[in-house]
Amino acid sequence: MPISRMDLGDASSPEALVTRILKAEPNLPVPVPIQELCGKLGIVRIEYLDTDEFDGVLVTDAKRSEGTILAKRGGEPRRRFTLAHELAHFLMAHHVPDQPGRFTCKGSDLLRVTAKEGDQRQRREVEANRFATLLLMPPHLLRAAMAAFHGADLRHVLVLAHDFAVGKEAAARAYVQYHPERIAVVVAANGRVQRCYRGLSFPALIPAIGSPVPTGSLYLSDRHRPNIASDIAACSSDIWIDVKRDLHAPTLSEQVYLQQNGFALILLRLEAAPEESAEERRLNEGWRHRFHSGRR
Ligand SMILES: [Zn+2]
Repeated sequence: MPISRMDLGDASSPEALVTRILKAEPNLPVPVPIQELCGKLGIVRIEYLDTDEFDGVLVTDAKRSEGTILAKRGGEPRRRFTLAHELAHFLMAHHVPDQPGRFTCKGSDLLRVTAKEGDQRQRREVEANRFATLLLMPPHLLRAAMAAFHGADLRHVLVLAHDFAVGKEAAARAYVQYHPERIAVVVAANGRVQRCYRGLSFPALIPAIGSPVPTGSLYLSDRHRPNIASDIAACSSDIWIDVKRDLHAPTLSEQVYLQQNGFALILLRLEAAPEESAEERRLNEGWRHRFHSGRR
């Protein structure tokens, strides 16, 4: 592996850094050898963290001359994500640690995908997660893997999680983002919505984070077996999304994957809206035209 920190130049954003890394390592295998990459990029030691308080810790100096990553014991996919996340803090000089020389990241930090405006700490965690996701699932390799899939199916997420050696939730997040159809994945536990990842064109969900999974969802059926993706079934779209009264209700389908730890992934897929006919389009344009002319 020929890469060194020299190859990163002045890159400082997650996207720019990963672009440089992929340029220096064009034949990166899958799963991405994250431990080896850490070693090449200035992480001199990787150790286990014997505390439940944090998932990952990076010990380094302000100049980032070298770093040590401590990661919690646990499953390999989670540990790999933690290493990539801490490597991000190490490589991004503008990330300022909580205490001098020590970044301490909790499980919730490693799941953070949005930051409150003006909250520098949250922003830093979001950037580290973006870097980790891009590095462990490089876009060109992810697209190539996804080209083999047809339709939307949680079994694809399981394949990605296995092949890229990432957690199922991280794989689901990437799947939703790169999938051409209108899909979303809801993470549920104890009957409640914990997190939600929507593709770009998927509308906002009605149930807020922390609220119960809506009545009528396939998730509430008691026929699910752990670690087996359910069949895909149609559901009433208005339990998940706001259906305007004057529009046709779109067709929404659900699929559930229950994990042994009580967490579940719920895939939501929205049928493409029917193309408006040429006649409808003419009518609509006519109305729009009259509306605008009337205002002049
Ligand atoms: Zn962090």
